[in-house]
Amino acid sequence: IPVEPFDLVIIGGTGDLARRKILPALFRRYLAGQMGKGSQVIGAARTEMDTEAYRQMVSEAIAEFGGAEAKNKTGLKKFLALISYITLDAKGDTGWEALHDAVQTDHVRAFYFSVGPSLFGDLAKRLQKHGMADDQCRIVVEKPFGRDLASARELNKVLARYFDESQIYRIDHYLGKETVQNLMAVRFGNMLFEPLWNSQYVDHIQITVAESVGVGGRGEYYDRSGAMRDMMQNHLMQLFCLIAMEPPAKFDPDSVRDEKLKVIRALDPLRPENIVRGQYEATETRPSYRKQVENRDSTTESFVALKANISNWRWAGTPFYLRTGKRLRERASEIAVVFKDAPHSIFGEDAGRHRNILTIKLQPNEGIELGVTIKEPGPGGMRLIDVPLDMTFAEALGPDQADFPDAYERLIMDVIRGNQTLFMRGDEVEAAWAWTDPIIAEFKEGEPPLPYATGSSGPDEALALIHRDGRAWREIK
Ligand code: NAD
Repeated sequence: IPVEPFDLVIIGGTGDLARRKILPALFRRYLAGQMGKGSQVIGAARTEMDTEAYRQMVSEAIAEFGGAEAKNKTGLKKFLALISYITLDAKGDTGWEALHDAVQTDHVRAFYFSVGPSLFGDLAKRLQKHGMADDQCRIVVEKPFGRDLASARELNKVLARYFDESQIYRIDHYLGKETVQNLMAVRFGNMLFEPLWNSQYVDHIQITVAESVGVGGRGEYYDRSGAMRDMMQNHLMQLFCLIAMEPPAKFDPDSVRDEKLKVIRALDPLRPENIVRGQYEATETRPSYRKQVENRDSTTESFVALKANISNWRWAGTPFYLRTGKRLRERASEIAVVFKDAPHSIFGEDAGRHRNILTIKLQPNEGIELGVTIKEPGPGGMRLIDVPLDMTFAEALGPDQADFPDAYERLIMDVIRGNQTLFMRGDEVEAAWAWTDPIIAEFKEGEPPLPYATGSSGPDEALALIHRDGRAWREIK
């Protein structure tokens, strides 16, 4: 969908997120013809540098993180010509008048707050003071949106002083993934699934976001946060809501977000026996979690698994098992909707029994797969086997169609189009914190996280969490 020319200001434009994600995403959209004539990108940060030096930094970032497109030197040269830099201090007056003069009043203006949340209030205040916070202005804010309910409320309150909710785009990049949107197309665009999408037919649902890497250079931040705050409260909860929500009347921002909010509000409070926390141990070549975060006594979890129940008509009786962690066997993220067994096997138990499982894969490759039962080919009699009906994009659509945009490309363009459907509303974020806050409070009082081996599937107790219900996690692979 074409977009009008726009101005995008990346505040924190020299930071890791800008270099790794935002700038390469903009470059790809530029190459796709989505940055109309007159559009501009302004990098703004505390670092003193001029536009030439910034363009050099952008060019290096694209070479490193821009994928195959980075080879398009002519495209890169033209893209760099749209970029400028302003030295700006969120907490002082430096740069604000220059920014005011640089942005074009007849354009949609998006200000991407690619800085820590402690600066959001300062930025909002100064945008208004310098006359840039009008109707044409949108702000994009990154996670973490608070570290508990109280701080998220405070952030919402500060932003609401200067902006209407319709101008605030809270990013959760999981919602920008093509497959996550495809999940909604599959659920609500087909007659096949929705009638079965309830506790009568669905045995349980699993959501796994597994990483093979450790905390890396983010140790200090991560140790103050942990898997519950860093992943569960936002990314996994968002996936959970999309899977569990009622069909919205329309695919528009408030219809979708109202339904997601209802899911969070219908969640039973979590009981301590339904949560397992873990912390990874050292290997011969890799340091332990505690060593990496340089905190010998850390009780922060690098893994969390939990069982959640939704008390509503659709889902009562169908548990949701969620887990996420670092240094696990593989980098793999998926949602699995496990349907119940057929009530009776007409082929006898010897033929084997298989369940239908709808798998929505998010990483490393995106795609949707439905496991169906068929007869094993050949003369061996009626033996049943499981085969996947593969809806993986590359296979079904051909390589051109499967080259879909990265989540950031999609989400940044949605900001420019003014479409908030895939962004979190303030009350949603608060409701998610309201659910996780009591659990996190228990962490402080309760047992420390359980150790688990690097390259494993997390602590054994996480396996027991699901085994005791007569179920098993899907293998991480
Ligand atoms: P970073 O430390 O690499 O960069 C921070 C940027 O903010 C720099 O450009 C710095 O110059 C600028 N800055 C700091 N103080 C400033 C001030 N007073 N005035 C103006 N500019 C100032 O951080 P990052 O990794 O790019 O992360 C930015 C935000 O995005 C953080 O809130 C982070 O939690 C979030 N985030 C980052 C990632 C990631 O992959 N890096 C992923 C998700 C969310």
